[in-house]
Amino acid sequence: METSAPLTLFNSLTRRTEPFQPVHAGEARVYTCGPTVYNYPHIGNMRAYVFADVLGRTLSFKGYKLTHVINITDVGHLTDDADAGEDKMERMAAAQKQSIWDVAEHYKQAYWADIRALNIRQPAQWTVATDYVPQMIQFAEGIAAKHCYELESGLYFDVSTVADYGLLARAQTEDGEGRIEAVEGKRNAADFAIWRKTPAGETRQMEWDSPWGKGAPGWHLECSVMSGAVLGFPFDIHTGGIDHREIHHPNEIAQNQAHCCTNGLDDAANSGAKIWMHNNFLVERSGKMSKSSGEFLRLQLLIDKGYHPLAYRLMCLQAHYRSELEFSWEGLGAALTRLKRLVMAVEQLKARIPAGEGVPTKPGRVFAPHLERFTAAVSDDLNTSVALTVLEEAAALKKVDPAEKLAALEAMDAVLGLDLLNMARADLRLCPKSATITEAEIEATLAARKEARAAKDFARSDALRDELAAKGVEVMDGDPLGWEWKLG
Ligand code: AMP
Ligand code: ZN
Repeated sequence: METSAPLTLFNSLTRRTEPFQPVHAGEARVYTCGPTVYNYPHIGNMRAYVFADVLGRTLSFKGYKLTHVINITDVGHLTDDADAGEDKMERMAAAQKQSIWDVAEHYKQAYWADIRALNIRQPAQWTVATDYVPQMIQFAEGIAAKHCYELESGLYFDVSTVADYGLLARAQTEDGEGRIEAVEGKRNAADFAIWRKTPAGETRQMEWDSPWGKGAPGWHLECSVMSGAVLGFPFDIHTGGIDHREIHHPNEIAQNQAHCCTNGLDDAANSGAKIWMHNNFLVERSGKMSKSSGEFLRLQLLIDKGYHPLAYRLMCLQAHYRSELEFSWEGLGAALTRLKRLVMAVEQLKARIPAGEGVPTKPGRVFAPHLERFTAAVSDDLNTSVALTVLEEAAALKKVDPAEKLAALEAMDAVLGLDLLNMARADLRLCPKSATITEAEIEATLAARKEARAAKDFARSDALRDELAAKGVEVMDGDPLGWEWKLG
């Protein structure tokens, strides 16, 4: 939908909110740093992809032809972002006594299940790091002479060979906080491996031949190569969580500058992407957002406890992506209730549209001010919390044609992605996996209870209610939100 407000986005590189001016007229090319598939993603990780999805949906809504790429890292990401430690994939494979390929496949599938559950649109392409190793070697060869040096452990990028190294980072200190100890012989603390040689006498599960010997690519190299290969330098927007603003993305930028400069593509200031965007963290007080904590928060845990995953999506949308968001079960419950109100409003509208009459493709004129405000909100650096409120205001508008209202809600939901038109309120019932009673049994008992009440047999009605209560089902008579029942 073409609308008036221009899209402005916060660029971490310039530290300003800037109007979006595409590199290729009418197009938007976006690269999102994807997961390292050595473990399940936690819900904080998934916030990064909800954010990238809202960005992509907004670009589509504004009429740009979107090409979105998300990568899957299945090699090269060390336990410490700054070159120290072991390869996360290798460590997990050893711990689970499985091949790295099996580990990668298992966790990639788990990640994709979360992507689907959160109604995140499929990108144009998922790029898998191990599919691009020849291109990575080629890229490294192209910049090696001018920008790199070899040590026993690998090929290192000399950050002093590019202008303004680390411009993007905020927290970086002069000495790189101990990064120099990790590898002996580094010229600068912030220098990083772009190729890690397999130590003499060892064999790695994943290793490739290269001009620097057998080994594996560095994690930063992977994203430079995959983004450039699929989207071309410069492309429009590169996204990731704010932790990537400190090391991973500055290193990608340094490589991109070296590559573009060496290959005569552009001047040394070509950072690969024009806009670098970062979502802030989801935090949880007791530390369950860390994958090393053992019992970290996965989307599946929320689902097992009975919460619809889109309640978590709505929770993310309530905060601005650049603000920290604190997770709590109460907050998730409140988001679920908010989602339920919207789903019920849509259900009521659908019921008022005569059978056979489809939803008009255009929202009624009466909704023009809402759409204008909605567009202004999402165009203002993706202000989803305001956009959500505008959607609710439109849903609450009285004495309007139901089909036209539904079309207005559908247009807004195309950006927010709450799947409002396809959900039923029954989908949002709190129904934990641990419940010993099925939904069908609850519904049958409730139907019997309704009959008893209609026949004024209150003793039987109360007995049925008690029977449900004994099985952990709370019957919510007169609940204004019409929850009907809740498993508690
Ligand atoms: P990883 O699989 O560790 O590379 O992380 C995947 C994505 O999640 C990256 O963009 C991270 O920056 C992001 N991320 C990690 N932790 C959090 C968190 N607690 N909240 C939001 N984003 C996060
Ligand atoms: Zn990356």
